[in-house]
Amino acid sequence: MKKIALALLVALLSACTTTVPQIDRSLTARGQSPRVKFIIIHYTVSDLPRSIKILTEQEVSSHYLLTDTARPSFYALVDESRQANHAGVSNWKTYTQLNVSSIGIEIVNPGFTESPQGRIWYPFPQAQIDQLIPLLKDIVARYNISPENILGHNEIAPQRKQDPGPLFPWRQLADAGLIVWPDANRVAAQRVVYEQMLPDAVWFQQKLAKHGYATPQTGVFDEATRNVLIAFQMKYRNTRFDGMPDAETAALLEVLTTPAPVAPAGAVAIK
Ligand SMILES: [Zn+2]
Repeated sequence: MKKIALALLVALLSACTTTVPQIDRSLTARGQSPRVKFIIIHYTVSDLPRSIKILTEQEVSSHYLLTDTARPSFYALVDESRQANHAGVSNWKTYTQLNVSSIGIEIVNPGFTESPQGRIWYPFPQAQIDQLIPLLKDIVARYNISPENILGHNEIAPQRKQDPGPLFPWRQLADAGLIVWPDANRVAAQRVVYEQMLPDAVWFQQKLAKHGYATPQTGVFDEATRNVLIAFQMKYRNTRFDGMPDAETAALLEVLTTPAPVAPAGAVAIK
């Protein structure tokens, strides 16, 4: 009994003497950057009530949920300083597990339905995009996010995801200065070259990897490579996204992965 009383006394005393760590915050390291480096765009596949239920009551979550109401608006479900569970197993360039370094935005949209005529995708109402673009601009400005780091879920997980699908209007994001869009004149010129001779699988796999996608380097157009090509085509050439290599896809890849040639200083354009 005496022993227990003594142990209690010691415990109480140590609790009282807990020291507050002394932290000097007058110095700041040069080598640091914002936690948030990516914005990942999704569709929910569910209607609004079900999307809310899933994203608030289950393990899956996102920082923002964009409604499909007549006047769309956002729910902020996870604070930007915290991690949300929206990306899953994911890769972009040297980054993995993008939940850690991204903000996830879910857009209420049914995704697609299968029909006898094929898969039917659902468009995004312009009112949603009109809400989305200002939020993207705001996030980009606050974290200094690179244009190439605004991505669809299917781009960071091309083997298992399709969202936000081929009808997400990436071109509007480019017009708003948020992402890079391949220059049409350069694409047209390259396309002529590749129509003469289409690059091989090694070329496509290397270019897709250079652009940022996790791409197998097998030297053959296997299913995994086609899935990556589908993700690329859905974004930049959504009139056909069959995952098959073609001259236009090659031209888009070449232009996006090769900086525009800069005219030497003092050069004069020949008319
Ligand atoms: Zn998703």
